[in-house]
Amino acid sequence: MERVRVYLHPVGCPKANVDLEKVSRGLKDKGFEIADLPTGALVAVLFGCAFIDDAKRESIDTILEIGELKREGDLKYLVVTGCLPEKYTESVTQSLPEVDAFIGNSYLDSLPALVSDLCRGELGKKQWVGGPFEWGRSELRSVPRSSPWTRTVMISDGCDNGCTYCSIPHMRGGLRSREVPEIISEIDLVVGQGAKEVVLAGQDTASYGKDTGQSDLPRLLAEVAARFPSQWIRLSYINPDNMDTGLGPVIACYSNVCNYVDLPIQHASPKILAAMGRRSDPDWVASRIDALREAVPDVALRTSVIVGFPGEKETDVDLLLDFLRRIEFDLAGVFAFSPQEGTPAAALKSRVPGDTAQDRLVEVTGVQEEIARKRMEAFIGRDLDVLIEEVADTGEATGRSQYDMAEIDRVIRISDCTARPGDMITAKIDGISAPYEWAATCK
Ligand code: SF4
Repeated sequence: MERVRVYLHPVGCPKANVDLEKVSRGLKDKGFEIADLPTGALVAVLFGCAFIDDAKRESIDTILEIGELKREGDLKYLVVTGCLPEKYTESVTQSLPEVDAFIGNSYLDSLPALVSDLCRGELGKKQWVGGPFEWGRSELRSVPRSSPWTRTVMISDGCDNGCTYCSIPHMRGGLRSREVPEIISEIDLVVGQGAKEVVLAGQDTASYGKDTGQSDLPRLLAEVAARFPSQWIRLSYINPDNMDTGLGPVIACYSNVCNYVDLPIQHASPKILAAMGRRSDPDWVASRIDALREAVPDVALRTSVIVGFPGEKETDVDLLLDFLRRIEFDLAGVFAFSPQEGTPAAALKSRVPGDTAQDRLVEVTGVQEEIARKRMEAFIGRDLDVLIEEVADTGEATGRSQYDMAEIDRVIRISDCTARPGDMITAKIDGISAPYEWAATCK
């Protein structure tokens, strides 16, 4: 008998891929087939993002596009999950007639049963399957895949930090750390499936264990690094407010832990940081970074910053630029403030006009690009271990070193390379071939 085909479509945030992988596994376990295209599938499931306005718009546009397929008879049902229905439950459930059911983030394990109901035509009218976040529900059990070699394992979900501009706690709930044995057994699984790099992820990995008191990030990292010595182990998203001084020595101690830290500072004006609900003083953050660099001198640092936050003046931007020049982050994402409905920051007065925020974004991006180039030049002449991710027909291979995260950071292009995707090779960095791209030769 032909199996029922389900199409899964992520939008926006990388976390959607995490959920998608989990759902894909659950559906396959129940005998459903995962379709490559929505056309011809019985059910399409869209993972809608609502983190920023662009993602929200993209999610709605995609719902409308896929809804069109339903109208044309090329698809029977459309289900929407993710942060979009979690955040805008009332408005989306009332306004999108093309959607047959919505599922909250914590209730994704209900999807196979819901698809079965749809197959039997038992769903009836539009449904909302959701509720408050619950400890112990299956949302943390994920085996996500950004490539066959790089796998993301959630060590926690949710966040208690209370940044005033952020709607993530509203969408994903408070901090929930997983137990160490559960994390280890999931890493065991992905390593058994061929993972060469494991990214430990959470909304703020530095908060790991604060809710349970049973472990903390340095201890977890040491345990994972010791258990999986042949894999690259990489950390994601460390809120500097919570960064432990014990982290640098652990990164330095284990050669398989990537010398890479993603430390979103968001700003460097004490006044703006306070309005953002961030606890640390910029000098304190700088001292933590100094300590990290003392322990791991060649650590690559990524950050993200927001310009145009309500109340921001030119003097605040100057403080931010001074800080970026002083720290010299290897990489930085620069964003213009975008008010998120329901957050305290959205209610703040003294909004910065949009064109002023854009001007500041351009200025900060320009300064950071110069810094990033200088940091890249320091790599020229070095031999790096490179994980090969793609090989073109021309023989040119593209890969990454431990200093860069998949999909968002710098890449290394290697000409005349006989390596295959997934291989780990050594390459010599010859120069910079494009922004955020090195040219290299095989050793
Ligand atoms: S630490 Fe990150 S996820 Fe948590 S509230 Fe702040 S910005 Fe949001």
